[in-house]
Amino acid sequence: MRDFAYARPASLAEAASAFGDGGEAAFIAGGHTLLPAIKSRLRMPDTLVDLSGVPGLSGVTRDGDMLWIGAMTTHATVATNALVASAIPGLAGMANLIGDPQVRNRGTLGGVVANNDPAADYPAALMALDAVVETDRGSHRADAYFQGMFSTALDDGEIVSRVGFRVPLASAYAKFRNPASRYAVVGVFVARFADAVRVGVTGAGPGVFRWAEAEAALTADFSVSAAAKVVLSPDDLNTDIHAGAEYRAALAVVMLKQAVSQAS
Ligand SMILES: Cc1cc2nc3c(=O)[nH]c(=O)nc-3n(C[C@H](O)[C@H](O)[C@H](O)COP(=O)(O)OP(=O)(O)OC[C@H]3O[C@@H](n4cnc5c(N)ncnc54)[C@H](O)[C@@H]3O)c2cc1C
Repeated sequence: MRDFAYARPASLAEAASAFGDGGEAAFIAGGHTLLPAIKSRLRMPDTLVDLSGVPGLSGVTRDGDMLWIGAMTTHATVATNALVASAIPGLAGMANLIGDPQVRNRGTLGGVVANNDPAADYPAALMALDAVVETDRGSHRADAYFQGMFSTALDDGEIVSRVGFRVPLASAYAKFRNPASRYAVVGVFVARFADAVRVGVTGAGPGVFRWAEAEAALTADFSVSAAAKVVLSPDDLNTDIHAGAEYRAALAVVMLKQAVSQAS
């Protein structure tokens, strides 16, 4: 591993300044993605800016029909928090499916959202729950925030501070996970609102996406039988050592049915 400087700022402004001072800096949250990348020399930051000392970045609050979760909130907290469980049980269930206890105890919402791994779970939830990603510079709607594999609307040095999720009438997440990594081979998050149903899909393609056909079918008829009639084209889906595109397309329908069944 190469030498690097370490900063532990006490405010968002200090964190932004510490990032700017480094030649090539990186924020560190749970370190579950960043540290393996540094060890394998995929990332070689000159400065690590540790966000764990910045106050106000952890915790869950409800404000009207929005549930706000701080960027440094761990997956374990989201999985067990009473506010999350009562407002959006599907989100608590999703967090409980991430990795294993070690990953859930260290990994953070902000780390996943900033990283945008195409097989990560949270991006599907953000899309389905019409989320807002708030940063030290402004805010981004989820629909425009995720821009394909490992790519987001964040500018260099922009810090995710919290994410707001619109509270639905019902929601659920179903994933077929890779048995080794626990990442999604396909994961489907369904959220039912008074006016429409939103569906986010992760793992299946090169980046998270909303599934328009499933949304239209379920908005008209929120039932497992309606979900069973939906089709996903394999054209833009991934083929890799874990699964082919046709298999992923079929799996997405199975996950959709499971999520609708749970949300019902
Ligand atoms: C064995 C294993 C299994 C896993 N399984 C799953 C799984 O099933 N599902 C899943 O979704 N994920 C899974 N993960 C990933 C896990 O959820 C990580 O927590 C996540 O990818 C990164 O979060 P982190 O807090 O560790 O971020 P870090 O590793 O600290 O940072 C990741 C990236 O985000 C940046 N960053 C971090 N916080 C911020 C912020 N607030 N603002 C701006 N940039 C920021 C960092 O600079 C870095 O580029 C797994 C990881 C491991 C190691």
